[in-house]
Amino acid sequence: MRIVVLAGGIGGARFLRGLKQAAPDDAVITVIGNTGDDIHLFGLKVCPDLDTVMYTLGGGINEEQGWGRTDETYLVKEELAAYGVGPEWFGLGDRDFATHIVRTQMLDAGYPLSAVTEALCERWKPGVRLIPMSDDRIETHVAVTLDGERRAVHFQEYWVKLRASVDAHAVVPVGAEQAKPAPGVLEAIAEADVILFPPSNPVVSVGTILAVPGIREAIAEAGVPVVGLSPIVGDAPVRGMADKVLAAVGVDSTAAAVAEHYGSGLLDGWLVDTVDAGTVERVEAAGIRCRAVPLMMSDLDATTQMAREALTLAEEVRA
Ligand code: GDP
Ligand code: CA
Repeated sequence: MRIVVLAGGIGGARFLRGLKQAAPDDAVITVIGNTGDDIHLFGLKVCPDLDTVMYTLGGGINEEQGWGRTDETYLVKEELAAYGVGPEWFGLGDRDFATHIVRTQMLDAGYPLSAVTEALCERWKPGVRLIPMSDDRIETHVAVTLDGERRAVHFQEYWVKLRASVDAHAVVPVGAEQAKPAPGVLEAIAEADVILFPPSNPVVSVGTILAVPGIREAIAEAGVPVVGLSPIVGDAPVRGMADKVLAAVGVDSTAAAVAEHYGSGLLDGWLVDTVDAGTVERVEAAGIRCRAVPLMMSDLDATTQMAREALTLAEEVRA
């Protein structure tokens, strides 16, 4: 069985851990990773979502934080701060720095991001094939009003520095229109037996991947079950501030509204949490088969069960 997953950072990575357990032994899992969160810091190319997937599946993640390396220290950051060199709001640890140095060196030598990611994964052995959505530079920007002035900030500045404390007027994946899917992305979608949307952010993770020309179309035309899991439980994101970017695209923070936002042209099946069982009918009325099951990734067993439910729903819609 060939499974394709569109993944952001924490929500995607944790789900993938369960999926690896739930999938048949001979399953091949291809992960199309979001690169809209990428940022250049200290002359280095940082790919937070790709690294979160790689570290989580490779056993190097800081479990409590959900991002960054385990056993991390912050000496380089302190030294940079002593020189007055920022930004100080983005947490790059010493171990993590090494990843960004290797990545930047390879990019400077002319390798595309997809090849660099494959090389980094040789160390981490995530057990999935991880491909960035595109080798082209795409950066999500968020339009906000700061001190009475409207301006666009990098997604990381909005998310990490401002903690999404101001309303987002718009979310723009800058560069997406001219970008091409990375080598292997469209092929993986065309050859997939099932396509999954993990409970990743529908706007700045999955939405950004779908904004790369050709990817949304390829999924819609793949002719295989496409099943998603809601990141919204009980009308709020389980973690983080997804409600702020959903509001920017005019979508309510409810499991049903997110399903309708993806739409029946893309989604065949949608899982909502049991607390949202009352919305199943509404989702089905939108032409998307829906089930209510526990969707909290509290431990590996619970996450594995979620992945099983997603694969079961996929078989149901196929039948
Ligand atoms: P990010 O790039 O690190 O923000 O991660 P993703 O985009 O992959 O996932 C973020 C989303 O995961 C958030 O909107 C959360 O609501 C969702 N999420 C996190 N933990 C859980 C969980 O246990 N269950 C569900 N259903 N969603 C979760
Ligand atoms: Ca992210």
